[in-house]
This record gives sequence, structure tokens and C-alpha cells, in this order.
Amino acid sequence: MKIEKNKDISLLNTFGIRQFCDNFYFFEKNEELLDFHFDNKTLILGGGSNIIIVTKPNNVVKLRFDSIEVVEKTDNYAIVKAQGGGEWDTLVKFCVENNFWGIENLSAIPGTVGAAPIQNIGAYGVEIKDVLQSVEFFDIETKSFKIIENKDCHFDYRTSIFKNKLKNKAIVVSITLKLSVSPKPNLNYADLKMLSQKDNFSILDIRNEVVRVRDIKLPDFKKLGNCGSFYKNAIVDFKKFEELKQKYPQIPSYQHTNGVKIPTAWLIETAGLKGFKKGNVGIYDKHSLIVVNYGGASGNEILNFSEFVENSVFYEFGIKIEKEVNIF
Ligand code: NAP
Repeated sequence: MKIEKNKDISLLNTFGIRQFCDNFYFFEKNEELLDFHFDNKTLILGGGSNIIIVTKPNNVVKLRFDSIEVVEKTDNYAIVKAQGGGEWDTLVKFCVENNFWGIENLSAIPGTVGAAPIQNIGAYGVEIKDVLQSVEFFDIETKSFKIIENKDCHFDYRTSIFKNKLKNKAIVVSITLKLSVSPKPNLNYADLKMLSQKDNFSILDIRNEVVRVRDIKLPDFKKLGNCGSFYKNAIVDFKKFEELKQKYPQIPSYQHTNGVKIPTAWLIETAGLKGFKKGNVGIYDKHSLIVVNYGGASGNEILNFSEFVENSVFYEFGIKIEKEVNIF
């Protein structure tokens, strides 16, 4: 374990919120978690790409173990185990290089492997739950390592048991994925449809296309602090959707298991907030789902701005949009 005192964590959160912590712990091995005392002022930091830091943490814990192992390979599938401290996109790259199909649409999502199942990361019609077998986590209360199977993770749209019953109680130390060794492209989203019209495309072509599109649409957090999608898309019931459709015939929508999904970016834009700026914070002018820090914004300033956006959307549509990001 390595400890740094009074560490500046401004560059360790993609919003670029200026903050310090008293003690910063790097854990090199998962056993080091056993002797650590966790309290409610301890922040478990992944890639810092899905968090607004409002309160100064006493302690910050960062996992440094990051190995990737092919546990089993058959003619049909590969079982891959990845440790929680690794970069998510390094894992995607590894799987693409080995022709293991299933997570290529999840390319270039910032953050760590350990953070991925917590919010059931998703993009371009794929969610991690589709290929995840199990999650190994450290149970903070019982100080023991446990394995939870996919079916018990209560995965849903950008959520899981780790955001509910196990919130602040579990640290994901590894995940195990079951991936296909034969091609299984998922090109249903408009941004990827072009590829399906080609005679030939590889898993690497899909990854490259996802990376290319994301590079164009999303701001680089090193230049403009942000957390990617700040809000979840709205899911409304059919009655509410019909009401909205009467008033806004052009409203975009997608069928969803829990009702009808409406892109929150459209709600924000239609409420007149695309590119809207207040102080140091604003809605990105090229993508309304993204809140940006124009420089120097505090966690509270970002939080207050986001609440203003939520209230504006509620006033316009009667829909309560939910944050995708976490607050510490
Ligand atoms: P988009 O293509 O402009 O579409 C807007 C929204 O409509 C998306 O959020 C997506 O929902 C939904 N959608 C589009 N096509 C759909 C289809 N064929 N079936 C069902 N739903 C559909 O979205 P975008 O902002 O460029 O994002 C593209 C993908 O990357 C999305 O899946 C998005 O979630 C993901 N992404 C994630 C992050 C992040 O930080 N978590 C950041 C950027 C993009 P879903 O979000 O449910 O897919």
C-alpha cells in the first residue's frame, strides 16, 4: 500500500473539481482492503469519471490491481476475469484484440473495470449485464470477499444492487465476463448502422467507429471538465408518453421494458437549455446530456446547476430526470 498526504485530487476527477484529501491510499493487492477502516468520509475512487465531489474526503482509496486473465476458452466462448483497478477501455481493447465479442460497443467509456457493473454501463444497445457472469466484491461491513452472480446483481437501466442495497458497502475487486468467440455484432444504433452495410467488417472496425463517433460527439474532459452523460434517459409510462406526443409530435422515443424511453438530451434541448451557461457551469453546446465545467466550478456549483436543469425540465414536461453521476 502506498499513502500520500494532503493530495490534490483535481486531476483525478474528470469534472476537474478542485479538491484535496487528507490521505490518498493506493492499494496494490486486494488483501490490503482487509485492514482498512472505511468511514463515510472515505471516497472509493475509480476513474473519477462519474462523480461530483461536493465534500472534502478524509481518505481516498484507489485500487491499483489491474490484471486481465483468460480463465477459459472453448470453441464458443471465452471467460475473461479482470481486476477492478484496471481501465475499462484497456479491457475492451484486450477483448477486441483477441476477437472476444460482446463489449466492443462499450469502447472508449472512461472509468475503471470495477466501476462498470455499478451503474451497468451501456452504449449503442449493449450493457455490461449482457456479458457479465459474476462480480467479486469486498464487503466493507463483514470485511470479507464475496462473489455475486449476474442474476443477483439486480441490473437495470444504468443501475444495479451496488447503487441500491450495497451502496457504500461493496468495493468491486474483479469481474468475470463470458464473451463470444464467433462474431456477434450489434449495429442497431443509427451511428453504427453504416458498418452493417459493408460486405466485411471486423470487431476492430466496430471499436474504431465507436471511438470515432464518441470523439466527435463528446467533449475531451482534459480540455472541458465533464462526466459524459450527466443524466439517465427518461422512462415514462404509455399514458404520459401519449400526452407528450399530443403536444410535441416530433418527440423521439424508444420502446423500453419499463415503458417508453425519451432521450433526456431532447428534453433539455427542448426546454431551451442547449448551450445554456450559468457562472462556470453549462450544458454542452454540442450535446445536451452533458454538463460542463468551463473552469473553476466547485462541486456545489455543478450540483446547483444540475438541479436548475432538472427543475426546468420538470416545469416544461412534468418529468423528473435523474442524474447518472454520483455525488460525494
Ligand atoms: P444518440 O444516438 O443521440 O441517441 C439519444 C438517446 O436515444 C441515447 O441515449 C439512446 O439511449 C437512445 N437511442 C438511440 N438509438 C436507439 C435505439 N436504436 N434503440 C434504443 N435507444 C436508442 O445518443 P448518444 O448520446 O450519441 O449516445 C450513443 C450511445 O452511447 C448511447 O447508448 C449512450 O447511452 C452512450 N453514451 C454513454 C455515455 C455515458 O457517459 N454513460 C456517454 C455518451 C454516450 P441509451 O442511452 O439508452 O442507449
